[in-house]
Amino acid sequence: MPRHLDRSPRRGALFSFIALAVAIVLVATGIWWVAAHFEPTAQELSQPGASTSSLADSTAADSTSAHSPSASSAPAASTPAPGATTTPTQGPASSIPTSATTNPATGRVDTLDGLVPDYVLPPIENGMVPVLTKIPTEQKVVFLTIDDGAVKRDSDLALLQKHGIRASLFLAKTFIAGSPDFYQQYIAAGHLIENHTMSHNLDFIHLSYAQQKAEICGMADFEEQQFGRRPVFFRPPGGPYTMAIRKAVAECGMKAIVDWESKANAGGMDYQVGAGLRPGDIVLMHFRPEFPADLAAFLKAQKAAGLKVVLLEDYLGVK
Ligand SMILES: [Zn+2]
Repeated sequence: MPRHLDRSPRRGALFSFIALAVAIVLVATGIWWVAAHFEPTAQELSQPGASTSSLADSTAADSTSAHSPSASSAPAASTPAPGATTTPTQGPASSIPTSATTNPATGRVDTLDGLVPDYVLPPIENGMVPVLTKIPTEQKVVFLTIDDGAVKRDSDLALLQKHGIRASLFLAKTFIAGSPDFYQQYIAAGHLIENHTMSHNLDFIHLSYAQQKAEICGMADFEEQQFGRRPVFFRPPGGPYTMAIRKAVAECGMKAIVDWESKANAGGMDYQVGAGLRPGDIVLMHFRPEFPADLAAFLKAQKAAGLKVVLLEDYLGVK
């Protein structure tokens, strides 16, 4: 037998060994690639667990001190799944990908002139809507809300338009029933009208469940009929709420209670936390005689903090 044929079995074994080694390397590389490139879905990232389950808010305290554990403890989009090698999707405003059209963590698309929201409104849980007093975000945005509707002046609307600001208006029927047409101008200017009860009873939390529901559902029905849009947010008179009220709000078809942690009042700013506006702050104002001074105080604080005024419904994508 020729010498080269005599060695072929050994060559074959060597070749098999090399092929096996290459195969092992390829398989290992494939496993690494899958592990390195797997990213949890938006749904996995947006765990709503912190949103409502920790709330023992049988009664939020007075409006001036009301805090929302749901808002402050639910940075849902910033919690990666264990073991995932995902990259941070929110951070300092300077790192926000303004050219992106979708935030991979939240699934939110660009609806705000280059700003892709990094927060998703928690869902209704155990039959109760979430409570927002501030949006947990690092993005340089602030939200203006204006309440009641007791004072109606064209000049106030003109001031908002002059500054290019749109706000969420929490109106009560008792203040606006005689002049719903007045607020059509606000709607035409891009503001949105939300729910602040029928009668603005400051003892709202002590009403019966049936009475509370009548106040909430009644105003939602009224606004839907008058303005052609059912409100998505509810604000209780004075701010305090209970778990029962959160349930009633859900049953009336709304998505969240919206309170606040800062307000423009008597020509100045009041902060429940800190000494200035923070990213994601929800600011309370009123249609009052001092509206121009309040708005000036808000604008001064907003500019000092370098924040952009954004419509809350736009930011949350819940028009
Ligand atoms: Zn009010």
